[in-house]
Amino acid sequence: MKKVYCIGELLIDFIAENQGNDLSKADVFTKKAGGAPANVACAIAKLGGLSKFIGCVGPGQFGSFLLGVLEDNHVDISLAQRSKTFTTIAFVSIAEDGERDFVFSRGADKKLKYDSSIKNSFQDNIIHFGSATALLGGDLEAAYGRYFFDALTQNSFISFDPNFRADLWKEEEAIFVKKCMPFIQKAHLCKFSLEEAQLIAGKTNLEECCDVLHEIGTKTIVITLGGDGTLLSTENTKHKIPSIPVTPVDTTGAGDAFIGCLLYQISLLHDPMQILEDIDLLKGMVKEANKAGALTTTNFGAIPSLPNLEQLQAIK
Ligand code: ATP
Repeated sequence: MKKVYCIGELLIDFIAENQGNDLSKADVFTKKAGGAPANVACAIAKLGGLSKFIGCVGPGQFGSFLLGVLEDNHVDISLAQRSKTFTTIAFVSIAEDGERDFVFSRGADKKLKYDSSIKNSFQDNIIHFGSATALLGGDLEAAYGRYFFDALTQNSFISFDPNFRADLWKEEEAIFVKKCMPFIQKAHLCKFSLEEAQLIAGKTNLEECCDVLHEIGTKTIVITLGGDGTLLSTENTKHKIPSIPVTPVDTTGAGDAFIGCLLYQISLLHDPMQILEDIDLLKGMVKEANKAGALTTTNFGAIPSLPNLEQLQAIK
């Protein structure tokens, strides 16, 4: 089984209890572990895979809480770092008009230092670049770039999810798109939401989006479409793989569960590059990943809702 390295942020989301209030009115918050790369690492480990988290948290109980959540979910945290800077936190509420109200206090996640001693362990393994905060600067952005270079030179299978967060890139979307380009050029597998595919490709039509994204460089694309399923696109073929019908209560983390499940299955292959040649194999994997995404929407919170293998296999 290959190891999957997930690089980026692990932070605390404070979720307002009484949704429908903006943050000025919200007064009770629930503390949850968050961060897309951390969610993906948990999704893989919960299915029985080997995932390693590379990211940085702060001192004290908040940092310990976050690393404890990863450990409880069997993620290898031996490469996680702690800095003296406070743990990154976000306060989130959905206001009465349905808009997300969001306050972000960026701390330790941006302090991640590059560690050159890890490079050799990337050899033939899977490296997932799925950080929402890495491209915002700090040491994390520098480390992200260097790990990307290492993955390219170590024959790693490279997965990329841009994880665009509109709250973090207001008026600066073009910079975000530009920073994504090297990853889309070189990654073996790119996962986009519909919004991301449209933003990066500069098109609204889904097929045209895929064409532009393939022209940038990536050979294999999955575009997740919520309840409408997933579009799998290679340079020669496009397949829409339907979602599993469920009654969603909270869609947080569905995309992370999806890519985590896909990477878990790829990690079981002797040669992960096999998926680039075998579209039927990949279609079957996307079908399973759709199940993981769907199951995650049926409960509240991202990490607690991630399915284990038994739950996944129970869906026919
Ligand atoms: P995120 O908010 O985590 O970034 P995303 O936009 O990347 O999510 P989604 O498209 O919401 O990802 O969901 C990922 C996958 O989860 C979908 O491709 C689908 O298979 C499954 N999924 C999501 N929402 C639903 C739903 N309402 N019903 C069934 N399946 C769903």
